[in-house]
Amino acid sequence: MDKRGKKVIKSTVRTRIEELLHEARAAFRGHAERSERYISLIWKLVQKYKIRLTKEEKLSFCKRCFTLWVPGKTVQIAFDQRHHAVMYKCKKCGFTRKMLYK
Ligand SMILES: [Zn+2]
Repeated sequence: MDKRGKKVIKSTVRTRIEELLHEARAAFRGHAERSERYISLIWKLVQKYKIRLTKEEKLSFCKRCFTLWVPGKTVQIAFDQRHHAVMYKCKKCGFTRKMLYK
């Protein structure tokens, strides 16, 4: 496939990911397990099409257990001022993600 064709696919997949993330957020309240399904679908697309997620999207879910990260509910956020970092800890599986900020 030529480069342009690939670009079209990627932008279609990107739109799909945004939709899925939206669905996952909508499903989270009453059907947390359904939101996990959406997240796992997102993760499959990301890996298959090598999609680059935005920083915000990356912090929207746990890439280990596919839980939607809702601050105070499913993720614990801690500031590490000495290292200029924010720590995201998944409350479900304990996966920790560190984001540096300036
Ligand atoms: Zn997790």
